[in-house]
Amino acid sequence: MPHPVEPTAAPVVRDDAVPPGSWNEVFAEPADVEVRVEVAAHWITTRRGLIDFKDPVTKRSGLEARPQLISLLVGVIRHPEHGDYLIDSGIDRSLAEGDSEAIRGVLDRVLETLMPVEDIASMRRRLDLDLQGVFLTHTHFDHVLGLPDIPREVPVYVGEREVDRKGLLNALQRRGHERVYRGRPPLAGLRTADGIPLAPFDHAIDLFGDRSVWALPVPGHTAGSMVYLVNARSGPVLFLGDTSHTRWGWDHGVGPGLFSEDREQNARALDTLRMFVAAHPEIDVVVGHEFD
Ligand SMILES: [Zn+2]
Repeated sequence: MPHPVEPTAAPVVRDDAVPPGSWNEVFAEPADVEVRVEVAAHWITTRRGLIDFKDPVTKRSGLEARPQLISLLVGVIRHPEHGDYLIDSGIDRSLAEGDSEAIRGVLDRVLETLMPVEDIASMRRRLDLDLQGVFLTHTHFDHVLGLPDIPREVPVYVGEREVDRKGLLNALQRRGHERVYRGRPPLAGLRTADGIPLAPFDHAIDLFGDRSVWALPVPGHTAGSMVYLVNARSGPVLFLGDTSHTRWGWDHGVGPGLFSEDREQNARALDTLRMFVAAHPEIDVVVGHEFD
């Protein structure tokens, strides 16, 4: 069975929060939050998954469909009042230590090319994180592998419409799926209806009620996919998740290929995000699986 998702409110709801009229208004007053990107692992996978080779832009470019080295990324948000949060979950210690049973249990061949850099327990210690929650961009296997190292009382958020499709669950062998979620309560499903309209988005969820961190529902790659925007003092940072795995995809406006559940819907989301960043060039964009 797929792991359940239960609709839940944002981590902090403030009744006195005044909705902003525009993103300009939001960015004019950055929050006192820190944000960083960490690399949990490297992984070689197929470019046909990462890039839509049916897109005419890809065809014209002459891009080759060959294996590509990517990274599993973890975003770290440090909020002065509400503690520390992760964006996606990296990998757990047993994978980092090359526990062959863990790897067999998770994905067999798919993970043969996984090269661990740092597990999430080590990252928590190194950065001395006061971990209060995890915001998943979506639940594809390469975003949930660190969950066994996240205490079960720490809430794990994702879009409320996220479900594991049958085909995905076949790819991610049942035993591995159970291992990743063992003992964990339902995922906390951020409710689209809790978002406010903030052009070009119909629903922008203010996660702490203070305009510091936003969840933007972008169904397409998966039904419950989210991108996260951190309105940091050092400048706004947008975590795209797998709306675009690669920098090439983002630069050329081409979404993922085989890995997306609904390519057309994801392409629309990607267009909206590119329009948003074109209007606010101060935004630093972190694509799903590349970091330099
Ligand atoms: Zn991914």
